[in-house]
Amino acid sequence: MNQRLLLFDIDGTLLDTGGAGGSALLDAAEEVLEVKRENLPPLDLAGATDGAVIRKLFADAGRSYEESKVEAYCFSYLGHLRRRLHHEDSPGKLLPGVVSLLAQLAMDDRFAIGLLTGNLRQGAKLKLERFEIAHYFQEGGFGEDGEHRNLLGPVAVTRMEAATSYKFRPDQVIVIGDTPKDIACAHAMGARCVAVATGKFERAALQAYQAWALLDDLSEVEQVKELLFRQD
Ligand SMILES: [Mg+2]
Repeated sequence: MNQRLLLFDIDGTLLDTGGAGGSALLDAAEEVLEVKRENLPPLDLAGATDGAVIRKLFADAGRSYEESKVEAYCFSYLGHLRRRLHHEDSPGKLLPGVVSLLAQLAMDDRFAIGLLTGNLRQGAKLKLERFEIAHYFQEGGFGEDGEHRNLLGPVAVTRMEAATSYKFRPDQVIVIGDTPKDIACAHAMGARCVAVATGKFERAALQAYQAWALLDDLSEVEQVKELLFRQD
């Protein structure tokens, strides 16, 4: 059977939290690391994992990276994220075509739909639930699974194989993401990448990283579906 495993990134690919994610990370830094946000360097979130971002925040705040403190940080972050996702100051939005694409893919049993995201599992859940698309995703790789994005791909595939009882060859796996790190992560596991220019990187900037396909956004649902079954 002609199966495809689709592994979606979240931020910049499916949705834009309107700054809620980054703000919540800084809220938690102020609360748990006792550092003022204006004294921290700007966050570099594109394609990063929460684990790597959190480790850097600890270092920038001059705090030692201890497990209990990291746990407290994550608890604080998730609380602020939940609050901010539902606050009018950060309305956020789904990106073009996402809902109709997911709805169409879900009706086609040749597709298995999972996540490959640097978000903590719970953070991913909060973001996807906020925009009512959480139910489309069976399993995935998350921020807890490694600080380098390339480590998350094989975890996502293994979990999706367990969830679907299907063994995917690398050429059946397609990563859909918005940053050079998503493209690199796909290359690292021999998978293909559909890059979308709906995040921080414009089409011209993504071009250099040689994604298998490059789209302005996911709004041409039929074309995207066709593309996902292309063999080359
Ligand atoms: Mg992204």
